[in-house]
This record gives sequence, structure tokens and C-alpha cells, in this order.
Amino acid sequence: MQHLTVLGSTGSIGTSTLDVVARHPDKFRIVALTANSQVDLLFRQCQQFKPGYAVMLDEAAAIQLRQRVREAGLSTEVLSGVAALEQVAVLPEVDAVMAAIVGAAGLRPTLAAAHAGKKILLANKETLVMAGNVFMDAVRASGSALLPIDSEHNAIFQALPRGYNGDLAGNGVRRILLTASGGPFRNTPLSELQDVTPEQACAHPNWVMGRKISVDSASMMNKGLEVIEAHWLFNASADDIQVVVHPQSVIHSLVEYVDGSVLAQLGNPDMRTPIAYGLAYPERIDAGVAPLDLFKIATMNFTAPDFERFPCLALAYQALRAAGTAPAVLNAANEVAVAAFLDKQISFLSIPRVIKSVLDALPVGTVGCLDDVLGADTEARRAAQQQLKKSSR
Ligand code: NAD
Ligand code: MG
Repeated sequence: MQHLTVLGSTGSIGTSTLDVVARHPDKFRIVALTANSQVDLLFRQCQQFKPGYAVMLDEAAAIQLRQRVREAGLSTEVLSGVAALEQVAVLPEVDAVMAAIVGAAGLRPTLAAAHAGKKILLANKETLVMAGNVFMDAVRASGSALLPIDSEHNAIFQALPRGYNGDLAGNGVRRILLTASGGPFRNTPLSELQDVTPEQACAHPNWVMGRKISVDSASMMNKGLEVIEAHWLFNASADDIQVVVHPQSVIHSLVEYVDGSVLAQLGNPDMRTPIAYGLAYPERIDAGVAPLDLFKIATMNFTAPDFERFPCLALAYQALRAAGTAPAVLNAANEVAVAAFLDKQISFLSIPRVIKSVLDALPVGTVGCLDDVLGADTEARRAAQQQLKKSSR
């Protein structure tokens, strides 16, 4: 029996995780669930999974949830605040932590789980983008098992040799091919991109996801963050990682070897596949995912990414090459810009403009510890807010 904490249990990844868990009550037991402020959903999850702990970031939401848990006669202890997120990530009875909080907010509890040597199912790519070396050092020092949940990285993990040691060349790997759907605006005339709405940006052709990552997919910043994520997970340089636009989202990524072999992982675009893989690794379990129907797919297309249409992808490569605090600055500026776009304060095309101006304005510092990352994050958010005031629609 594996005992789990699910950070961000009310989100897209969180609910998919609980869907897989519910299919295997003999294998998994939920110790803790956490959410930002969604009382109704977290309460229903408490009724179904009867966790020992439920955490709401928001204090007022925690008070409501506590009341409802008590009235329902459940023994779940309701906690609140950032410290409680870390607390449930390191409980001695927890074996594995699903890191599925969105954005920089996921960093501290995910890092805490790494320090505590938990098995980490990593969906929160922002942890690696912001603090890749700090996080990977913590994973190595504690001996945590790290399983990528992002579908592309899960595919690469599956296509690399079992027990891959971080040496691409030594394992005969020529390069990593990271697939991208191209998002909803792959073919939109450039002249129309200025006026696209948050609703259009969040209508992804293949995947149903949270709003932040949906906008990131539309701008292809998501792929940029994933290039940086792949860098840390697989010890791959920017030149080792080729983005391939593949609109059908059936091949989730590929690994090319020096002998000409290319190994890919395929499947329907359903996050329950990588989640089930991470949960049960090294076993395979039913994820509730429909079998892949190749006859129905019939054709698959591949094109090179268009860096002019998607300047966010170029900015991410630039930040990865600049190294140090640059990826944390990129991530923070992106979070501020995406929130402003979702809030209809800026246009879609202003997102890369804001990020570029922040990257250009801030010096690149070295990252020796978490405080270096958090300092860069704060400074970048401040610079991005200033840019927002200047950016007009
Ligand atoms: P989501 O917005 O659907 O859910 C986010 C979860 O985090 C919710 O439970 C929410 O309550 C919680 N949360 C939000 N802000 C918080 C805060 N400040 N403090 C604590 N908790 C907070 O997001 P999602 O789409 O499930 O994505 C989660 C993570 O997984 C992201 O890092 C995303 O990049 C990554 N990811 C998602 C998908 C996908 O298909 N959705 C695929 C790959 C990777
Ligand atoms: Mg992905």
C-alpha cells in the first residue's frame, strides 16, 4: 500500500490523480489533500477518500471546510496556510507526493518533499524552471525517486534506458525530440492574434487543463518551460532538445539514439496515463484511458516550431542558455503577464513583450540556494508589474 499526499488535488492534474487512485483502492491510500480555496470540491474529495489531513491555503476557506468536515462526522484534520502545505508533504507516513499545485506556489512544498526523501510525482514544472539545481541537489542528497508527470517528460523517461544516469552521450542518445501540439493558435493569422480572448486561448484542441497552463500552451511558453524542465530532468543542454510541432498530440515525445533508432511513447492525450505510470512505477496499472486507435488517427504531422509566431519559446531557450536566475525571472514574468491577460488587462501579444523587457532589464545572478531563486522571483514580479502599467492593449 502506497500512502499519498496530493498537492493541488482540486486541479486538473489533482482530479485526474484521484480518478486513478479510486480505481486501485488496494494499492493507494490518501493521507493528505490540498487546495487553494475550492471548499466544495475539497469537501467532496474528503468524503470520498477520507484523508487524515486537508489543507486550504486560504484561512477563510479552511474555516468553512472544517465546519463541513465536522458536520459530516469525518475525522479529517483541516489545516491552512503555506506552512501546512509543507507539513503534509513531509509527514512520516507519506510515501509519495503528487506535486500538482500550479505555478511558483508549488515550489516550497515540492522542495520540502524532496528534502524529506519522498517519492515525487512531478507535475509542477515551475519547480524545476525556477530552482532546477536546488531541487535536483535535494533529490540526489535524500535519494528521492523523481518521476516526471508532464506527458512529454514522462514519455522521454519511458524511452530512455531504465535507470538512466544523466549521461545522454554515454547512453548513445543523440538528442531529445520534445513534441508540442502548437496550441489553439497554430494556424491563426498573425494579424488576429492581437485580439484573441482568454476563452479562445484556454480552448486547447487536445488537452483539458488549468487556465494558466492553457495560456502557456497557446503562447508556447509551456513548451519553453518544458525545454528547461527536460534540461534538469535529463541533464540535456539546450542544443540536445529539439521541439517538434505535432498537432495530433499522440506521440508524447521521442528519444533519438546514435544508431538511428528513435523510441517514442504514444497514447491518447489523457494525463491519467503518465499519472498511473508514476504512481505504479515500475509496474503498469489500468488508468481508465481508452486504447489508442491508430486507424482512427490515420495520419500524424510534424513541423518545426515557428519562433516568430511564438516568441515565448525563443525567450525560454534564451533564459536556459543564460542560466542562473534567468529561468526564474522568465517564469515569474510569465506568471504575472498570464494573470494580467486572463484578467483582460493586456493583450495576448503583450505577454512575450512583458517577459522580454523583464529579462532584458534584470541582471542574471547565480543560484546557490533557494533564497537566490526567491529573490529573483520577487524582483521579476515587481519589474513585470511595472511593465504592465506601461503596456497598452
Ligand atoms: P489547475 O489550475 O487546474 O490546478 C491547480 C491546483 O493548485 C488546484 O488544486 C489549486 O487549488 C491549487 N493552487 C492554486 N494556487 C495555489 C496556491 N497559491 N497555493 C496552493 N495551492 C494552489 O492546474 P493544473 O492544470 O492541474 O496544473 C498543475 C501543474 O501541473 C502545473 O504546474 C502545470 O504546469 C502542470 N501540468 C499540468 C498538465 C495538465 O494537463 N493540466 C499537464 C502537465 C503539467
Ligand atoms: Mg506537457
